[in-house]
Amino acid sequence: MEKEILIFGHKNPDTDSICSSLVKERLNKKLGEENCRAVRLGKINKETKYVLDYLKLEEPELIESVNEGQEVILIDHNEFNQSVEGIEKAKVLEVIDHHRIANFETSEPLYYTAKPYGCTSTILFGEYKINNVEISKEEAILMASAIMSDILLLKSPTTTEYDKKALEELEKIAGIDIKEYGLEMLKAGTDLNDFTAKELISLDAKSLDKNGTKFVIAQVNTVSIEDVLTRQEELENAIKEEIEDKGLELFVLAITDILNSNSEIIALGNKVEAVEKAFDKKLENNRTFLEGVVSRKKQILPNIDKHI
Ligand code: MN
Ligand code: MN
Repeated sequence: MEKEILIFGHKNPDTDSICSSLVKERLNKKLGEENCRAVRLGKINKETKYVLDYLKLEEPELIESVNEGQEVILIDHNEFNQSVEGIEKAKVLEVIDHHRIANFETSEPLYYTAKPYGCTSTILFGEYKINNVEISKEEAILMASAIMSDILLLKSPTTTEYDKKALEELEKIAGIDIKEYGLEMLKAGTDLNDFTAKELISLDAKSLDKNGTKFVIAQVNTVSIEDVLTRQEELENAIKEEIEDKGLELFVLAITDILNSNSEIIALGNKVEAVEKAFDKKLENNRTFLEGVVSRKKQILPNIDKHI
């Protein structure tokens, strides 16, 4: 039997990681590569569940680790510390990603498609075009979901012309009011009540490493920052535990208001001054409000990273 190629996004998967993996599997199969399969590295969040339920799709299988020599395609990430256990010894055949490149190395040549678009699915949309492959209605909704999730319904500063164009075309194929659908999808993801504090801070947490300094930037979307802040003490306790357990120098939790496009930040750890310097603001009660800030990739991480 031919070896199976596993396709997956990052740990703590978001809608882009899951939907783009499913789309990449479909695209590769249409191009004649039958032995590939989308899998996931963590729990499906509520926003993504909304998409899968809408399309009546099963969750991709959860994997914990890969064996030496396993062939893989990385979607929506490249940093090994955000990838599967065992990735160092896997064979990375291909990467499709829209993030910075860091903590990444392979011993063999590979396909690497990096574009600074708002979403991995926008890159995949382009791959359909280049390969002259028709996009099905299901694929269109998967890609549109990923795009609207990553660029917060076009409100994120990460939005590019390519994302807008892709969405316009995908909306036609999908045959639904994509903004209305997208808002429902995002709202489904903001129901945070039944999560423990520990779950909340790890739902969408990115582990980062700068020359051995380990830090985490986590993000939760909400329609009411105040609501989330009623749990500040509980959240801080969970964050302190995480700092202790993982030897982190900094933990930043961004609570992002998806309707008004602002974020409140909670920061703890030895290097909180990196946050203060990044935004030229003093933390009060471990918190600060960042007007117009919604993007971890473009607004939060690069600024903090400079001061770590
Ligand atoms: Mn992602
Ligand atoms: Mn993404």
